[in-house]
Amino acid sequence: ENLHVISRKHKRTSEEIYHQACQLIPGGVSRNTLFHKPYPHYINQASGCYVTDIEGVQRIDFANNMAALIHGHAHPQIVDAVIEQIRKGTAYTLATEAEVLHAQLLCDRAPGFEKIRFVNSGTEAVMAVIKASRAFTGRAKITKAEGAYHGTYDYAEVSQAANPTNWGDLNQPNSVPLASGTPQGVLNDVIIYPYNDIERTLAILDEHADEIACVLVDPVPHRVGLMPGKPEFIEAIYKWTRKNGALLAFDEVVTFRVGYGGAQQNYSVKPDLTALGKIIGGGFPVGAFAGRSDIMKVLDPRESKLLFPHSGTFSANPVSMTAGRVAMELFDEEAILKLNALTKKAIAQIREAIKIADVPVSITGAGSMFRLHLKSKAPATYREAYQNQETKARVDEMLDYLFYKEKIMMINTLACMFSTVMTQKEIDILSQAFLNMFKQFK
Ligand code: PLP
Repeated sequence: ENLHVISRKHKRTSEEIYHQACQLIPGGVSRNTLFHKPYPHYINQASGCYVTDIEGVQRIDFANNMAALIHGHAHPQIVDAVIEQIRKGTAYTLATEAEVLHAQLLCDRAPGFEKIRFVNSGTEAVMAVIKASRAFTGRAKITKAEGAYHGTYDYAEVSQAANPTNWGDLNQPNSVPLASGTPQGVLNDVIIYPYNDIERTLAILDEHADEIACVLVDPVPHRVGLMPGKPEFIEAIYKWTRKNGALLAFDEVVTFRVGYGGAQQNYSVKPDLTALGKIIGGGFPVGAFAGRSDIMKVLDPRESKLLFPHSGTFSANPVSMTAGRVAMELFDEEAILKLNALTKKAIAQIREAIKIADVPVSITGAGSMFRLHLKSKAPATYREAYQNQETKARVDEMLDYLFYKEKIMMINTLACMFSTVMTQKEIDILSQAFLNMFKQFK
């Protein structure tokens, strides 16, 4: 236990700080993902794949700020570049070359990225993709997968809370709101399809054939179950969009880590527009959207008729651009191959642990990410992957066991997001921790 306690510099405990936080911030947190019972643990510092809280407890970080840190914490090359930029100022009302250099780097990575624009978050990127699709097609409706998470834009949130009491017939999944007070108009304009189910999805799309601006697809949707989109599913949607004048929009906010050109490089068809975020900011707030030149023209202020006026005080912020560029330069083909191979090795070791402990657990994922499911057969659909209350309670207990006993941080679906600074040592610790946990919770 004491091995993990490396320093005690802070005067106050996490519990004391949280008490103050609750007086000021609803639930004491500005992101619900920070919430942790009985109180969140406040961080003192982090380096590489290790995070130390103010109580001095060090943990291995397999959450990496919800998949946003591809090189772990405080990577020296990113830190140096950022400090240099910060000394020169952090935000101007004029343009910087940092934006153009990052744009070049990203556009060079995927053939579909003919033009790109930067924003401040994945939420904004998805919002911009939806608005650009509407502006280009002149249509209002969008369609997204049941249960999929795409950030917090009203339209993108629809169906995120789909559960057995409200999810409806598979041929007509409900457009259930997430936030109370979501306007009916929003719900009417979001059509829900069942992920990876070609026949039903096409039938649902056909019902709205001339109304759909874009079909939003996450190629490996985390909340749906972290199952890669089947090539034939993606191709069928692509074909449908060609026939019906709609756009294919990928959300690669998380999945861009899967390959040099994101998960889209694994498909024979390419999306018209792509939302990006997380790793492309090198640890700083960022988002971007990229795609076909003719579509992105809706944003061009030189056009006589500007169809989608778009701005943002901190968009293309030079600190984020600099950090992101260095992070993505480091995340080259070789680094990706190495990281994905390490993740594959980790999955193999965890599968071995599952076998030894003889527990009904399965794994889904792609590239440098995976998710555990508390069932022997890996889920193929959102409804199969859905965690009911009982399963969720069990998952929470497991997460607490890993956090407190094994000193391991994960994403709360039981998912791990690897970083390039991880080594065999960390995956050995992780697979041993899982083995201990499987035995404990058998
Ligand atoms: N899209 C996907 C697939 C995501 O996982 C997320 C965030 O987790 C977002 C969009 C929203 O990104 P952000 O949290 O930066 O707004």
